[in-house]
Amino acid sequence: MKSRVHNFSAGPATLPLEVLESIKEEFINYKNIGSSIIEISHRDKIFVDIAEKTETTVRNLLSIPENYDVLFLQGGATLQFSMIPLNFSYLGNVANYAEVGSWSSKAIKEASKICKLNICTSSKKNNFTEIDHLNKWNINDNSSIIHYCKNETIQGIQIKEEPNFENFVFVDMSSCLFSEDINVSKYDFIYACAQKNFGPAGITLVIAKKELISKSKPELPNILRYDAHASEKSMLNTPNTFGWYVAGKMFDWYTKEGGIKKMEDRSIKKSDLLYSFIDSSDFYINPVSKEQRSICNVVFTLSNPDLDSKFLKESDAEGLKYLKGHRTVGGMRASIYNSLPMDAVESLVDFMRSFEAKYG
Ligand SMILES: *Cc1c(COP(=O)(O)O)cnc(C)c1O
Repeated sequence: MKSRVHNFSAGPATLPLEVLESIKEEFINYKNIGSSIIEISHRDKIFVDIAEKTETTVRNLLSIPENYDVLFLQGGATLQFSMIPLNFSYLGNVANYAEVGSWSSKAIKEASKICKLNICTSSKKNNFTEIDHLNKWNINDNSSIIHYCKNETIQGIQIKEEPNFENFVFVDMSSCLFSEDINVSKYDFIYACAQKNFGPAGITLVIAKKELISKSKPELPNILRYDAHASEKSMLNTPNTFGWYVAGKMFDWYTKEGGIKKMEDRSIKKSDLLYSFIDSSDFYINPVSKEQRSICNVVFTLSNPDLDSKFLKESDAEGLKYLKGHRTVGGMRASIYNSLPMDAVESLVDFMRSFEAKYG
């Protein structure tokens, strides 16, 4: 087998080798019970213990207050685009949605089928390279919902300021949760799919105020109701047991590595290295407004786009993988989530420097 590559995939993304090895080690015969963790009931004490410990660990990691529910759901972040307005739009006349990149635009598209929207800000006009400050957003107060995406994975732009709104604040943190030291109590509802920062696709973390969850729309089918999931401890039906188990391993890894502030420091260091190199060269371009550049997804283009395919081919040959930008925007993207080590970023910068020397 070839050795492992420097994996810059935007998601599903790389995981720490030691986590993968620990899963491999336990996979066939979990702790000598004679079965794999994916072969036992989610109601079995063995799994229930894992599930509960996973929740405790994530509560500690993010200092989640007692009055918040923590849910492990399926359907990806995308199901949240529908579930949020289905459950909560009835609380107001109109829902405020910020259009700050591809993912928040997708959320808007789904919500617009369910309720009336007020697009409270849009950075479409500048091609999603600069987002208005939150205090400039045009919030309709006859509403219960403000929705935005904190880190736009495709455009590499990130809202770093904390919200301070009267309405309930719902935030897609799929690609930045665990990379930033956030204050959970500033948000009413946080959600993130696992495949960027805490495991395989198919499990989604929801962290939301109990008071809000209890307002879930009662007429909905149970599978779409947050309060039904909360009262069944996310076991309304069979959960993604494997994903939940891997999430637990990742949360243990974060704890062992020193916690979320440490992850944030590393993310800033990794992204600074890339951005300062990009800015020092006329050959590479990052168009995002400086203070909003993502610390998780670094996008860049070549001043001569004819070289894009050469760049991708030659970097790939060096073991620098999955650097192609999203199909909707082109260019390049280096996703540098927590499991991607600093030396991968150093190797990328070395490669970029020699590529420029060769073709610049
Ligand atoms: C990846 C991603 C999604 C989509 O997640 P799915 O699990 O595929 O539904 C949504 N929002 C953001 C910000 C993402 O990065």
